[in-house]
Amino acid sequence: MKSSQSPGRYFKNDMSDEENKNNDPGSSLGYQKDYISDLLKTVHCNCPPLAENCEGAVYVGWAGIAYAFYYVAQSGLFEDKKDHFLKIAEKYIKVSLIEINKRDPARKSRGASLLHGHSGVYLVASLIYQALGVHNLEDENIQSFLGMRKYCKYGLNEIFGGCAGYLAACFMINKRFGRDIAGSDVTLPLCEDVINCGREMSKKYDFESPLMYSHHEKPYLGAGHGSSAILLMLLNFPACYALQPDVEKDIKLSVDFILKCQETDGNYPSRPGHTRSDENKLIQWCHGAPGVVYVMAKAYLVWKEEKYLQAALRCGEVIWTKGLLRKGPGLCHGVAGNGYAFLLLYHITHDNKHLRRAHRFAQFMQSSEFKENSNLPDFPYSLFEGYAGTACFLADIASPADGCVGIFPFMDMF
Ligand SMILES: [Zn+2]
Repeated sequence: MKSSQSPGRYFKNDMSDEENKNNDPGSSLGYQKDYISDLLKTVHCNCPPLAENCEGAVYVGWAGIAYAFYYVAQSGLFEDKKDHFLKIAEKYIKVSLIEINKRDPARKSRGASLLHGHSGVYLVASLIYQALGVHNLEDENIQSFLGMRKYCKYGLNEIFGGCAGYLAACFMINKRFGRDIAGSDVTLPLCEDVINCGREMSKKYDFESPLMYSHHEKPYLGAGHGSSAILLMLLNFPACYALQPDVEKDIKLSVDFILKCQETDGNYPSRPGHTRSDENKLIQWCHGAPGVVYVMAKAYLVWKEEKYLQAALRCGEVIWTKGLLRKGPGLCHGVAGNGYAFLLLYHITHDNKHLRRAHRFAQFMQSSEFKENSNLPDFPYSLFEGYAGTACFLADIASPADGCVGIFPFMDMF
């Protein structure tokens, strides 16, 4: 792959951004399918769905791997292997449920946590049992998921383990089941808590943005721990702001505040004013443009103002030039997670350039340069750090037939 060594956090991107018949979307579907299949095999061999060493949750645990098998099974790419993948997904989620049910959901509000706790596991379990047609277990897990609402803690807002994460799960479960499983009686009070908390924090710290969120006392902007994903989840529930101009104004001004933090290269600092040197910049889903791009795209869809689209497109530019991360192939801080930003931009602009860029990132992950010179994540087979997440990304770029491409797992906004 044409790319050259450079020091720092990312590989220098020397890949062509132009159309290329032999290298473009649609030309390598068979190859991609084989690669996805091989990746899942590798995950299964190295992390078999056994109770020993089981980490239960979604982020780097068995529930995340279960989700990858489920997601690829549902992609439409593997009709011949669909049942096989779903059966494997079931094995992982069974072990994960046993493990998570040993833990106290009240401890550190783990019950409510999307990526580190119970609610994410029950969400994934309900989806897998729905796909398998096992309706009693589907219902049981839906009820377990709804039961975790009581562990959402006022003041804990982030998507990883706070209220925004639970809201993301509500949005996803309603969409995937095609009905309001988590109704407005569940979601609205939660949105109100998030809004009230953001206003209180802003006042307390005399912060420029009318809604302020902090994690470990730091006002992060990125998707993983910061305000961009929290605001995205509020925008996903128009009932919380559509008829309340003061709330909508505060959300909009808060998105505008983030927008203003964009650096000249298109990236966002992890915190306002927290500028880093070029080689130390964080350009990854959890911190930086690859995560902030979602709220900019959503703001554009909601308010139809060009500035949000331009901000999102600038995110795309910096991800293209500086987003081939050395940290690995994963979603949270890896190349696949950054590649998902291009699928989002393709979704809202239908410009093939973004789809090509997603493919180039996918191809780069399969290059010897990447394999030999990138770092091994702590959990190399997991959903958020490893190859399970890569498999989801590859499945999404391999099947954009109807112009409809997938979105970063658990960041749904359409
Ligand atoms: Zn990360």
